[in-house]
Amino acid sequence: MGAILTQHTAWTNVERALRTLRAHKLLEARRLAAVPAADLGRLIRSAGTFRVKTRRLRSFLKFLLARGDGRMARLRREDLQSLRAALLAVPGLGPETTDAILLYAAGRPVFVVDAYTRRVLARHRLIPPGASYEAIRSFVESHLPSDPRLFNEYHALLVAVGKRHCRTVPRCLDCPLRFDLQGRPPRAI
Ligand code: SF4
Repeated sequence: MGAILTQHTAWTNVERALRTLRAHKLLEARRLAAVPAADLGRLIRSAGTFRVKTRRLRSFLKFLLARGDGRMARLRREDLQSLRAALLAVPGLGPETTDAILLYAAGRPVFVVDAYTRRVLARHRLIPPGASYEAIRSFVESHLPSDPRLFNEYHALLVAVGKRHCRTVPRCLDCPLRFDLQGRPPRAI
């Protein structure tokens, strides 16, 4: 739910919506799918663009009920490539949302590419500035052991460095990754 609710909004707003759903005992696929669209929209209003997100949540719940009987655990045993393709075909699920669902909710070894990942890797000349989502995902996955816990931690570290140091204007002087620049300035992006 969080992967969809966080589209185009800060996580703090998502947490409020999740708290509301939890308070109503609705963090369960079958119960949530039974909530009328207008009521669901009211419950997730704090996450913003609630009409769009209501549609997307309901589309995902329909998928989860059909393919996993409402349980993420069922998706852990599926062939990863066909599962990813099926998720990408759900209306409103782009690659970042799909991969967040696969990694964080299903525990599958898929790296989630976000703006921080793109920025750090491009500034360090590891990817070209206009690299596609798939090219970045494939680059990271091919250089790390295929381990969901590692991908989870690595992504969290990239987010931390992006928030604290690799901002719109990079703050390299006290960044833990400054030595990886090997004395060169970060590439302009
Ligand atoms: S050293 Fe500079 S370019 Fe590299 S991650 Fe840190 S802030 Fe960004």
